[in-house]
Amino acid sequence: MANEGECRTCGGSIGQPQAVNLECLDCARKRTLRALKAYVVPAESLPEEGYRDVIFVSTRGLARAVTANRLSIPFLDVTSDDCERAPELDSYSPGPVPVRALIEEHDLWFDCEKCNRRVNVDSVGEYTKRGVLCDECAMPEPTDA
Ligand SMILES: [Zn+2]
Ligand SMILES: [Zn+2]
Repeated sequence: MANEGECRTCGGSIGQPQAVNLECLDCARKRTLRALKAYVVPAESLPEEGYRDVIFVSTRGLARAVTANRLSIPFLDVTSDDCERAPELDSYSPGPVPVRALIEEHDLWFDCEKCNRRVNVDSVGEYTKRGVLCDECAMPEPTDA
């Protein structure tokens, strides 16, 4: 029998004798986060212009509620296009999801950091710390003679 008061996942002490089948807070939190599901929803800023981002929530209903709120539409009007389940992004819970994954794994577009052109998987030039450059802006600057 396992020692009493040990986390069943990591074996760390929980400090509760008699505790059976318990997890330490850290392991419980990590497990909860792993159980969250990724949804691609309208972005908090500029949702009406089609900008999207990813949220991690436990239920589809919650994802739809967030979507309805951001689009200012009734809950029942939220479609699965507005609020799209993205299982390929689950492993990034609780976020943030790297821009590269959003573009390459979920086919989202971003604005080029220099020229604001929309950049998708076909026109990515370079990933920056927080965004992308389009294939034109990523080219070396022409030198002024
Ligand atoms: Zn633990
Ligand atoms: Zn550009």
